Amino acid sequence: MRANCWMGRSHVEVQDVPDPRILNSRDAIVRITSTAICGSDLHLYNGFIPTMEKGDVLGHEFMGEVVETGPDVTGLRVGDRVVVPFPIACGGCDACEHGLFSVCENSNPNAGVAEKMMGYSPAGIFGYSHMLGGFPGGQAEYARVPFADVGPIRIDDGLPDEQVLFLSDIFPTGWMGAEMCDITPGDVIAVWGAGPVGQFAIASAFLMGAERVIAIDRFPYRLRKAESSGAEVLDYERTDVREALRDMTAGRGPDACIDAVGVEAHHPAPLMYGYDRAKQAARVETDRPFALREAIMACRNGGVVAVVGVYGGFVDKFPMGSLMNRSITLRGAQCHVHRYLRPLLDRIRAGDIDPAFVISHRMRLEDAPCGYEMFRQKEDDCLKVVLTP
Ligand SMILES: [Zn+2]
Ligand SMILES: [Zn+2]
Repeated sequence: MRANCWMGRSHVEVQDVPDPRILNSRDAIVRITSTAICGSDLHLYNGFIPTMEKGDVLGHEFMGEVVETGPDVTGLRVGDRVVVPFPIACGGCDACEHGLFSVCENSNPNAGVAEKMMGYSPAGIFGYSHMLGGFPGGQAEYARVPFADVGPIRIDDGLPDEQVLFLSDIFPTGWMGAEMCDITPGDVIAVWGAGPVGQFAIASAFLMGAERVIAIDRFPYRLRKAESSGAEVLDYERTDVREALRDMTAGRGPDACIDAVGVEAHHPAPLMYGYDRAKQAARVETDRPFALREAIMACRNGGVVAVVGVYGGFVDKFPMGSLMNRSITLRGAQCHVHRYLRPLLDRIRAGDIDPAFVISHRMRLEDAPCGYEMFRQKEDDCLKVVLTP
C-alpha cells in the first residue's frame, strides 16, 4: 500500500510499504477514506519528538471502512464506516475503566522507554514515535487498529467524512481543553494558539457557556477564523498580551487559560526566544514553553490553566512561584478521545457545530509532503489539511 513515511527531520515521503495484517484477535484493518495532518505531526516533522525511525508511517487522524476483523472484535463488522481515536486503549485496565483512555496501561508495547522519560507510560498512539508504541499511522491506504472493539465509533448515517473525521483528535482535544476550565456562565477564557485545536477550544468554550473567549496568535488568517467563531483576538507580535488581557478583564485576568500551542511556541521577545531555542538546541531543555509561562502569569488568581498543546519532555523557567502563591490549577492531558466520541457526534448531528470549518486544504495522500511543508510554513493561509488516499 501507499503510506506517508517519516524519513528524518523536515522529510516525509509517500512510499510503498507492506499492507497491515491482523496481528491480534482484537485488531481490525481499516481502509482509509480520509486522513489529516495534525499540528502535532509538525513536531515530528521538525524533529522535536524523540524515538522516530526512518520509514515510520505517520498520521493519527483517520477514518474509513472496516475491511477485516480479528475473531474477538465485537460490535464491528466488515463494511462498517468508522472514525478511529488517536490514542489506543484496551478498555479493560484500571485507567480505561476510569475513562482515562489516553493513559491506557496495556496499549504501549514500548512502555519502558516512556517510563524512563516520563515516570510512567501513557497509551500508545498511532504514528507517533516508538516511545509511544511504534504503531504505523493512518496517513496511508490502510491501517491496523488494535483493540478495535473499544476505539472506533461507527458512523451509520450519511454525515460526510469531513464533518466527522476530526472526532479522531482535534475536536475532542479542543473540547477537553475547554472542559478542563470548569466554565461557568460569565467566564472569560483565553486561548493561546488559534490553530485547529485552538479553534475547537474556542468553539467548545462558547458551547459550554463562556461569556467571552480571547484568542492569541500571530497569523491574521487564524485570528480572523477565531473572530468568526465569536472570539476577541490578540496578535502577540503587536500587543503586550498580559497587559491587554489585564485591560480586557477589569484588571483581574482571564478565568481560565488554554495552552493550545505546546512545545514549539514562538515569542516576539528575541531574548527569551533565543534563550529557549539555544537550550533546546543544546538538549538541556526539550520544550519551549512561552505560551505556558504566559498563560500561567496571565491567569486570574485561583484560575485554571489547561494544557492541550503537546509537550515532549522538560521545560525551563517555569513560573512555579506564580502558580503556587496565586492558587492556579494546572491541568493537562492527551485527550481521552473515547469518552467524547458519542456526545460530540451527537453535537455534530444536532448542528451545534460543523467541524469542517477548520479545513483549508484538500489534497491527495500522494501530496502529503507538500501538505506538511505548506502547513509548517503557513503558506496560503494553511490551517488544516485533509488527505484522501
Ligand atoms: Zn492530532
Ligand atoms: Zn486500557
